[in-house]
Amino acid sequence: MKLFTVGPVEMFPQTLHIASEQLPYFRTPEFSELMFENERLFKASIRAAKNSKTVFLTTSGTGAMEAAVINCFGDEDKLLVINGGGFGKRFAEICQIHGISYDELKLDFGEVLTEERLNGFDGSKYTGLLVNLHETSTGQLYDINLISAYCRKYGLYLVVDAISTYLADKIEFDAMEIDVLIVSSQKALALSPGLSVMEISERIYRNRVLKMPIRSMYLDFKSHIKNMERGQTPFTPAVGILLELNERLKQIETTGVDEIQTEIHVLAERFRRELKTREFRIPEYPLSNALTPVLLEPNAREIYEQLKSKYGIMVTPSGGALEKVLIRVGHLGNVKWDDYEVLLNAMEQIRENL
Ligand SMILES: *Cc1c(COP(=O)(O)O)cnc(C)c1O
Repeated sequence: MKLFTVGPVEMFPQTLHIASEQLPYFRTPEFSELMFENERLFKASIRAAKNSKTVFLTTSGTGAMEAAVINCFGDEDKLLVINGGGFGKRFAEICQIHGISYDELKLDFGEVLTEERLNGFDGSKYTGLLVNLHETSTGQLYDINLISAYCRKYGLYLVVDAISTYLADKIEFDAMEIDVLIVSSQKALALSPGLSVMEISERIYRNRVLKMPIRSMYLDFKSHIKNMERGQTPFTPAVGILLELNERLKQIETTGVDEIQTEIHVLAERFRRELKTREFRIPEYPLSNALTPVLLEPNAREIYEQLKSKYGIMVTPSGGALEKVLIRVGHLGNVKWDDYEVLLNAMEQIRENL
């Protein structure tokens, strides 16, 4: 099965090799050194300054989203949630579960997040903004400069779920004035699922994290940050994924983040051009390089099923209202242009026989 999904994605041979080996014990100076290196290399990959904090959580991305909310916000807060699809909705649900007051900026499918829409919400009413910078359910990439200017103007803390945009699109933690950034292992890092890495700004750490009551033992940032001072985590971490991460981050440092992002961009652009040549349609809103949504109404589900069963190709299906409307084709992990030729030909064949 060839994966054109967004996570898990096709893993690189070096990662698979590491995943096949015996794990070390982790309460050792050697493992602490590896964690310090992971921290340094991760910060470099998002252009974060030394005084922000890095947290390694053994959880999928949703756990990290929940951790961000409960460690930084409480009863006194009111948050603005950008909800342009499944992942935006998830942030809203997290606020609801934890009794944190919020408003939603809801985007209809196809609607672009514009300055007008954002300014329709009076920023002085809020203390923080939650956004999935790339709303993976639709493929829309929001304008981070627009969002961070809004947060600066009203003094809001900015929480960015960058899980499906990290390495695919440009992310600069300091320059974009992000307070919490969330990354997960199974997307562009192309590692096993189960690890999330978060960067916490000095400002939100001092003013919020340190002052918040502890609401989850497992997800408590204070304890994670304290432990990272000695290169450790409070509980048994995903040791194997942290080893996979170490190899991958070294590779990213050698290749360069900009180069990796450009490679993904070139692949995505070429695929989109080729789709248009073959008269497939894609949405008009701004897209992340991470994936290409293809408009196939009403046959999206059928085409997904046939790609899987007849061609051994796994694209990302859509859920809910978009099930019959969209398939999403990922550009992350170990995928090459030749693979896309095979996919495009298969999509054409299926379309002819519908
Ligand atoms: C994949 C993804 C997540 C994480 O979802 P999990 O199923 O918990 O791993 C969160 N946010 C976005 C934008 C994602 O693409």
